Order: sequence, then structure tokens, then C-alpha cells
Amino acid sequence: TMGTLLDITALKETADKLAKRQLDLEMANNELEQFVSICSHDLKEPLATIRFGSEMLDKNFSHQLESKGKEYIRYIHEAAGRLANQINALLEHSRIGQNSEKQDVDLKQVLDTVVMDLAKSINDCKAKISIGKLPTIKGYEVELRLLFQNLLSNALKYCKKGVTPDIRISYFKDNDHYIFSVNDNGIGIEEIDLENIFKIFNKIHRNDNIEGTGIGLAHCDKIVKLHDGKIWVDSQPGVGSTFHFKLKA
Ligand code: ADP
Repeated sequence: TMGTLLDITALKETADKLAKRQLDLEMANNELEQFVSICSHDLKEPLATIRFGSEMLDKNFSHQLESKGKEYIRYIHEAAGRLANQINALLEHSRIGQNSEKQDVDLKQVLDTVVMDLAKSINDCKAKISIGKLPTIKGYEVELRLLFQNLLSNALKYCKKGVTPDIRISYFKDNDHYIFSVNDNGIGIEEIDLENIFKIFNKIHRNDNIEGTGIGLAHCDKIVKLHDGKIWVDSQPGVGSTFHFKLKA
């Protein structure tokens, strides 16, 4: 009948509109990533000049300067170093999910590599790391490694003074998803900071001067989303944090 015909036309129009919106979104996203990458490359050059200039100033002229002058050179040099780290982090962020294809990834193997890469920090703080059985999933190997590496290195970095870090990694299956957790007994995160920590360059300012670019968890968020999953955290200040993430099985 006429009614059904109309319904189908309307349905098709909606589907077309949705497809177009999806394409627009993808294009905007690509453009943004390109923008970030080009921008970062262009920022690197003047930054290198600033670093070089401050080094030369320090090397050749610092003997003519008073302590205040030397201090200013140090400020410039340190700030330039931090900016270089931020630019690299941004570049790294824009590259997540590019140039890679999904494959079977044995997460046990991934974790073995991550633990090996972090061996120095693990030994330095005598951390205890327990890794349960882990599955093999379809995903982006390099990115999954980065995901676990960021979570594990945060668990080590934000440990409590005088307490041996005890970090546990486990998972369970929930229908067609795996839910992983990385649990630590570190300093924890205050409730008001919880919603912001996954944003790019977002750091919690504590009076401890822990180094970091504030991009690690933004990487994690992007990687998990790349796998159509999500990441969240439970934490109790002074007791510890558990980062959970859900990936398609
Ligand atoms: P970075 O570590 O470079 O500052 P991240 O994006 O990895 O940046 O983390 C954002 C913030 O979240 C950190 O500044 C830190 O305060 C907090 N955080 C992350 N992981 C933990 C953890 N396991 N325990 C306590 N705080 C954490």
C-alpha cells in the first residue's frame, strides 16, 4: 500500500542522513588529527631554537651573569623541555589507531612485555605485581600495550610513601565483553578529580611534584574507545585506585 511505501522512503532518508553525518564526523576527525600533527611538527622547530639558544647562553655567558640571570636561563630551559614533552605527547595521541590493523592479541604476552619495560621502576620500589590469567582478544597490539603500560606505570608512580606497591591485574567475561581491572594500593584520587583525569593534559595538582604530561589517561581513553569500549575508575583517597575497562571479546 501507499503507506508502507512512504514509510520506507522516510526510513531511507533517515538512513542516508545518518550515513552522511557519520562521514562528516569521520572527515572532521581526520582533519583534526592532521591539524594536530602538522601543528606539532611546526611547533618543534622554534622550540628547538629556544632550547639551543638557552643552552648556548648558559654555556658561554653564564659566567657573566648573576645568580638571578642564571636562574632565568634555567627557567627557559626547563619550560622548553616540558613543552617538548607536551608536543611529543600530543603527536603520540594523534597517532593512536593510525597505521595499525586489528589482530589477535595475546594479552598475557602484552603484559609480559610491559612488565619487562617497566622492570627498573618495579625493582626500584620493590612493587608486587600479580597478573591473573589473561585472554587473547582482537585488537590493536601496539595500542593495547600502551594502555596497560600507562595504567601500570601510573599505579607505580602514584604509590604511597613507605608502602610497598601491590598491583593486581585481572579480568572477567561479561557476555560478549571482557572487563579488565588494574588495582593499586596507592594514594588514590579525590572524588572531584575523578571526572577530569581522562581529559588531555589533565593532571591533578598535588604538592608532590610528580613528573608527568597529563596525557597518559587520555591515551587510555582513546585506545579503549578505538576498541568500542569504555574506561572508568573507582578510587578511595589514601587507600588505592582501580581502573576498569571494558573491551569487546
Ligand atoms: P600524568 O601521570 O602524566 O600526570 P595521566 O593522564 O596518566 O597523567 O594521569 C592523570 C592524573 O590522574 C595524574 O596526574 C594523577 O594525579 C592521577 N592518577 C592517574 N593514575 C593514578 C593512580 N593509579 N593513582 C592515583 N592517581 C592517579
